[in-house]
Amino acid sequence: MATNKASPSTKAPSADFFYKLASAVPGILFSYWLSADKSAHCYPYVSEQIRERFGLDPEALKQNADAVLAIVHPDDAGGLQDSIFESARTLEPWQYRARLRLQDGSYQWYEAHSRPERQADGSTLWYGQFHNIQHYKELEQELRDSEAEYSFQAGFQKLVARLSAQFINVGFGTIDDCISELLESVGVFFTADRTYLYAFNDDHTSATKTHQWCRDGVRSVIDEDQSVPLDDQDEWGQKLLEMVDENEVVFIEATSEAASVFCVPVRVQGQVVGFMGLDSLAPRKWREDQSDLLIIVSGLLSGALERHILEEKLLSQSIRDPMTGLHNRRYLMPRLNELVERAERYDENFTVAMLDIDHFKQINDSIGHLGGDYTLRRFADILIDLVRSTDVVARFGGEEFMVVFPDTEQATVHQTISRILDAVRHGRFVFEGREIPLTVSAGLASVRERDDSMISVDTVIGRADHRLYLAKQAGRDCAVDISGVLRI
Ligand code: GH3
Ligand code: MG
Ligand code: MG
Repeated sequence: MATNKASPSTKAPSADFFYKLASAVPGILFSYWLSADKSAHCYPYVSEQIRERFGLDPEALKQNADAVLAIVHPDDAGGLQDSIFESARTLEPWQYRARLRLQDGSYQWYEAHSRPERQADGSTLWYGQFHNIQHYKELEQELRDSEAEYSFQAGFQKLVARLSAQFINVGFGTIDDCISELLESVGVFFTADRTYLYAFNDDHTSATKTHQWCRDGVRSVIDEDQSVPLDDQDEWGQKLLEMVDENEVVFIEATSEAASVFCVPVRVQGQVVGFMGLDSLAPRKWREDQSDLLIIVSGLLSGALERHILEEKLLSQSIRDPMTGLHNRRYLMPRLNELVERAERYDENFTVAMLDIDHFKQINDSIGHLGGDYTLRRFADILIDLVRSTDVVARFGGEEFMVVFPDTEQATVHQTISRILDAVRHGRFVFEGREIPLTVSAGLASVRERDDSMISVDTVIGRADHRLYLAKQAGRDCAVDISGVLRI
């Protein structure tokens, strides 16, 4: 093969040649020397780029390498020296990643690679280069961030799916458990310290805390902040009014109880009926879309409350008499059956009183049907006022009512019936300016009577009905039980 005498490759490369080559390399080339006793080190050669990037003088580095160590970020300096010593001991290539301080004071990531060579005097000399990996590090961080974001979003979807499934399956009486569960899940997911629900009173003058969740070790404030006034006197009140008016999430920084608070409106049929709160005790950074996410959660809560209110209304309509608000027969009969079962099992007793307004037809005839209705409502109020909360009051039909006294002494039953008759006899019933004189008669029967044997619901009602008839016969405005007319 013919050789070209003019080719530069045939000449031995000069030092100048290497310097030029080194100056064209994007990284920084170096040789690094460490004395055998590790007490001295320097850079016999380092390419010029070290001056423009880091403001370090290659000439000075020929004497001492400390200036390079001084620009390593303190967080990355920890393992640096050990890794150099390790490479010197094993003569394995040295590799390291660290942030280095640039001339303008900012830090960027660099990666160094070099090969060590043991010198005759026991010192070590490395040949290598370091180059900027900032872009790569940024990509890595972006990837980590987007992975974290992806898993956050996936976690949020899961949370929403779980809570909606739970709310769809919510049964009567379990809405409170579901709300508590929602507050806990939201608190845990958003790493809040406290989450709670406030309900507004009807005229929107105050809000009452109904549910609360606290992270372990966080003080509960449910009893202290039980009710807050909704006025514009303080910042809290102002913010809450703003939340209601604008129907949007408000963020309050630094309250007496927390470093930051989110208040998220909860709506039922378009009306803000309360709000969900999220407290963080220590200052923290919230996500930019935190408000939007909380609105989604409060939407779940709103939907569940709406359904619950509707179902309760339907239930209540089906077991209550709309005119008096008392329970109806549909509610009463299963209760009586339960009571008979209990009486059998636990050897308990219960008494029913059948009450019927005297000459009610005449009232209708004299003051009209509306006046009659008014009288029925007033009588229902008297019953509710005079019986215990454990007694059951129901409108049995027309102007007939029933009070059930579970596990009650006869003396107590007689006393209550006497008070009812008395309250009706002496009560003032005025409809459209006309006073209505009113009395009521009652028939009483117990599930265990003198013979001490059990009787059925139908029998006990039949007996009470018969005794009511006897009371009417006896002149009305009185009560009859097994022993006859009660002189009460
Ligand atoms: P007694 O003293 O024997 O019980 O006589 P009474 O007139 O009360 O009894 P009666 O059973 O003859 O009449 C009951 C009346 O109650 C007949 C009915 O029109 C009336 N009534 C039933 N339900 C209602 C109601 O919801 N509103 C009104 N205003 N009247 C009712
Ligand atoms: Mg009557
Ligand atoms: Mg009647």
